[in-house]
Amino acid sequence: MNSPGDISPNKAMSALRLCSPRLLPPNPHLHRHYLSSLSSSPFSSSSLRSRSLAPFKKLPRSCLGSQPVLGMEVLRLLKPNNFFRHFWTRGSLDKNKTLVEHLQQYGVLKTDKVTEVMETIDRGLFVPHGSAPYVDSPMSIGYNATISAPHMHATCLELLKDNLQPGMRALDVGSGTGYLTACFALMVGPQGRSVGIEHIPELVAASIENVKRSAAAQLLKDGSLSLHVADGRFGWREEAPYDAIHVGAAASEIPQALLEQLKPGGRMVIPVGDFFQDLQVVAKKPDGSITIHNETSVRYVPLTSRSAQLQNY
Ligand code: SAH
Repeated sequence: MNSPGDISPNKAMSALRLCSPRLLPPNPHLHRHYLSSLSSSPFSSSSLRSRSLAPFKKLPRSCLGSQPVLGMEVLRLLKPNNFFRHFWTRGSLDKNKTLVEHLQQYGVLKTDKVTEVMETIDRGLFVPHGSAPYVDSPMSIGYNATISAPHMHATCLELLKDNLQPGMRALDVGSGTGYLTACFALMVGPQGRSVGIEHIPELVAASIENVKRSAAAQLLKDGSLSLHVADGRFGWREEAPYDAIHVGAAASEIPQALLEQLKPGGRMVIPVGDFFQDLQVVAKKPDGSITIHNETSVRYVPLTSRSAQLQNY
């Protein structure tokens, strides 16, 4: 494990790539979100560029509709105006599926289990009106917070999947829109627990509405999924210990309460650091000892106090 001040040249370069306007992809949307909103991304600018353009470079079959595609139809769809109209007016679950297919093609989604849950929980129900939900980018959700990019959701779900088996317990700290809390709930099922903790009351209220519209609605109603207003740095003792803990905001150091609330055999995924951040994977062995490894470099909003966040840190 790297010590906190230990920054390799590679890491410094990748952080520079994420933060230097000169090296950013020529996409104003990515520029805005990857810089100003302190977004989360483990990718270099070059792979960001190919990811962000991917939906438009390679037309997935599903974009072309279910009818057999004849020559004339292909020509019609290849006209930019027709293509964009066709792409953006398809049903939302269809568009969500296309996003998921791209994450599969790029190797971010590796398993059927995680692919299925991301297909089932429609990201479109969790982003504010007016944002583009099916683009692989974080989006502002207000209160100086963002919904993480789909590739980060996929990465965290893949890292935690073995600790999200039916009947297990999951804690989502900094639950924001409730998207990952809903994914966890589907994976652990009605016998399990998925608990979201978020310190902005308005975001918790909105996340409850989001979940009510989603495929996880029944789990919320039955109580296996719950969303609470609280300071996530202290975890949520009522349902502890947890098999899986996800932290959606970057901590200066791993909060002791979260380590204590992790079950022996449990796994936590947490971004750690201030400017330079690592997505750390913390494993608690059956004997209670802890191992930590750095998965990738990331950029998340800070895990902080409500007042610091509302004053823009
Ligand atoms: N994973 C979520 C949100 C990510 S943004 C999603 O994808 O929708 C990080 C979230 O952490 C923000 O909503 C922010 O309000 C919240 N947060 C930051 N510090 C917190 C703290 N101390 N306790 C609880 N939530 C916190």
